[in-house]
Amino acid sequence: MIVTMVGTGYVGLVTGACLASCGHEVRCVDVSEERVGLIRSGQSPFYEPGLEELLRGALANGRLSVTTDLEAAMKGSAISLIAVGTPAHGDEPDLSYVEAAASQIGAALRSADGYHVVAVKSTVVPGTTRNIVKTLVQTASGLSPSQFGLCMNPEFLREGCAVADFINPDRIVIGESDSKSGTVMERLYESFDCPKLHVGLEDAELTKYASNSLLSTLISFSNELAALCEATPGTDVETVLKGLHLDHRLSPMSHGARVVPEILTYLRAGIGFGGSCLPKDVNALRTYGRRKGVLTPILDAVMTTNTRRPEQVVKILEGAAGNLSGKTVALLGLAFKAGTDDLRSSPALALLPLLKAHGAQVRAYDSFISKEAAADLGLDWFCAGNLEMTLEGSDAALLTTADPQFLNADWTHLASCMRSPILIDGRNALRNVRLPDSIRYYPIGQGGRFLEAGSTVE
Ligand code: NAD
Repeated sequence: MIVTMVGTGYVGLVTGACLASCGHEVRCVDVSEERVGLIRSGQSPFYEPGLEELLRGALANGRLSVTTDLEAAMKGSAISLIAVGTPAHGDEPDLSYVEAAASQIGAALRSADGYHVVAVKSTVVPGTTRNIVKTLVQTASGLSPSQFGLCMNPEFLREGCAVADFINPDRIVIGESDSKSGTVMERLYESFDCPKLHVGLEDAELTKYASNSLLSTLISFSNELAALCEATPGTDVETVLKGLHLDHRLSPMSHGARVVPEILTYLRAGIGFGGSCLPKDVNALRTYGRRKGVLTPILDAVMTTNTRRPEQVVKILEGAAGNLSGKTVALLGLAFKAGTDDLRSSPALALLPLLKAHGAQVRAYDSFISKEAAADLGLDWFCAGNLEMTLEGSDAALLTTADPQFLNADWTHLASCMRSPILIDGRNALRNVRLPDSIRYYPIGQGGRFLEAGSTVE
């Protein structure tokens, strides 16, 4: 099948490379000449494990090509997948990229020769595909709605494991305007062995928001518990959450062994959620609800809890290191989570102005982030690849991503580089790591009871 992939960001490029590896001919299109040039040379514009190998293979066997020429890419193709950004504009998604892509596809639609399905992969609020995308395609193409297909096919991949997620999906949601459109999408995914849900366009749009809203809710719920524990001497959120996780409805027994569902990784305390999707999507759904006259008090609280979390973490830091004025704090991790170079709405970046407001100098380390990407963040010092230099002379370190290299670091040596070896573990990632006695270790979610140096939590 010939597929036109519009947008080569995380979703577009991963989808394109994976569909090419399934045997489709994928023509990727982007408005950015620079991005197209990079991809054509076999390089991914962002870090994603396994993507470049897949990309190079698909470029070499001719199954994937990349261009800025949408009309040429649509020649003879059966589907256009729209995977352009829908960044936050206040509390709403900015639909201007989706609108532009829809109009451009409409203008080039006649060059597709034959029946062509326009499918939205970008995350959009209910009604966008039917009311905006369809209308723009129709106007620009001059075709009637019965002459082209229309689908909404939300994407559930996670950055950091996007290729694996795409290749082994839990489900594929196909929102279809009619069964003819849905049948074409079914053919696109015919080699994928998972439930394929054929639903209405709005159901598909809402399913994506439901998914991200639930994940955000679990994180905020865990962080609210962490804050309660921090205010309750003698309690520990890890203990409380362990007691929760062992409920058989959350972790059932199967053949004598406990099944630990991945959803439990969202029932963990931390520094708050971020990234390009969760905050944007929760806010978009709240705004959509408001427009429809539907109150969303749960989602409102999810965002409030998330906004407050960085302040609570700074309080723990102050409790450990004292007044931060004139002190040097090392942020260990800048991206919104480990294993990615995505800085969009990163909670580590929410900590930065708070630390500055307290008069701290902020140094940072993140092996996934380039010096150029970190240049405009307002850091006092940044090093991509040297943990030791980052910690040199610092008064405290605040771990903000659960990067496995922090688990395996030589903390005895690192502690000796610090002016004051205080380590706040914003992800509770080092709880089970035996740390040297010289480190003063402060996990989050403990009420007035800090771990003794060198001890571990069961
Ligand atoms: P991105 O910002 O990384 O990439 C968007 C790409 O689209 C850019 O390369 C941009 O140049 C290109 N583009 C913009 N307008 C274009 C046009 N008219 N024609 C061709 N190319 C154009 O975005 P992303 O992170 O891949 O997200 C895309 C959509 O998928 C968003 O709606 C997002 O919410 C959703 N989503 C993202 C993820 C994720 O983990 N990033 C996961 C699931 C869903």
